[in-house]
Amino acid sequence: MNTRQGALLGPAEIRDLAGRLGVRPTKTLGQNFVHDGGTVRKIVRAANLRGGERVVEIGPGLGSLTLGLLDAGASVVAVEIDPVLAAQIPLTVAAHVPGADVEVVHADAMDVTELPGDPPTALVANLPYNVAVPILLNFLERFPSLERVLVMVQAEVADRIAAKPGSKVYGIPSVKAAWYADARRSLPISRNVFWPVPNVDSALVALERRDPPPTTAHREAVFRVIDAAFAQRRKTLRAALSGLAGSGAAAEEALRAAGVDPGARGETLTVEEFARIAEHLA
Ligand code: SAM
Repeated sequence: MNTRQGALLGPAEIRDLAGRLGVRPTKTLGQNFVHDGGTVRKIVRAANLRGGERVVEIGPGLGSLTLGLLDAGASVVAVEIDPVLAAQIPLTVAAHVPGADVEVVHADAMDVTELPGDPPTALVANLPYNVAVPILLNFLERFPSLERVLVMVQAEVADRIAAKPGSKVYGIPSVKAAWYADARRSLPISRNVFWPVPNVDSALVALERRDPPPTTAHREAVFRVIDAAFAQRRKTLRAALSGLAGSGAAAEEALRAAGVDPGARGETLTVEEFARIAEHLA
């Protein structure tokens, strides 16, 4: 899907809008606004949306990406925590993409358990960086209708989400994301496309939902094992899971029953292996 030139916000419009609204971007809310139409078009293209697809966007901010998604024909439900920005979105949309289908939910995305309208099949967002991983995991958990995700996050976080077992950066975000989806690192994004310019690099990460690993263990139990395994990264799984199992011996027994070497470390295990351990710890 393509985006028309005039529909998007450029640097002058971003400054002007922020000035008129009295918006002073805050670090706490991860407010770095994209002011480059080329970047918005790149993200919309990478999102690979179907015509008329229902998309949820978290943190629309001043509307840079929202306009790109709408102009490409998507129907958007946008969740924004900042009341001034949330109130402005419909007005900005009406001015740039008249008649577009947008709904705004003024809320903290961490608290959102339901969304108005048709269930979204895609999540596309430039996420607030300090809460990107919990928001991503919560949305995958709470909205099973989501088939695809394309989010912009801090480059290191994108690497961590997409990392595979054995990689140095493989950790909690990688394994938990793998519970829900196949993740891959997508395009890098220059820090110069933001206002204000952040002091970290950004990148897109794409996720395709797939079934969770077949297991009798509950997701919560598997996630507890993952948390424990990585809480003490340098320790062997036998030591790291001894608290959860009740003792080192019990941890060793569960690991052996799951077919996992008790001397191994968490960073070498697949999500399927974590699920098997959880089954035997239960
Ligand atoms: N999408 C816009 C863009 O690309 O220019 C803004 C992205 S900015 C990195 C992140 C946005 O998320 C901000 O608008 C901020 O107010 C919003 N935000 C921060 N924390 C949030 C939360 N917990 N729930 C919903 N929105 C949040």
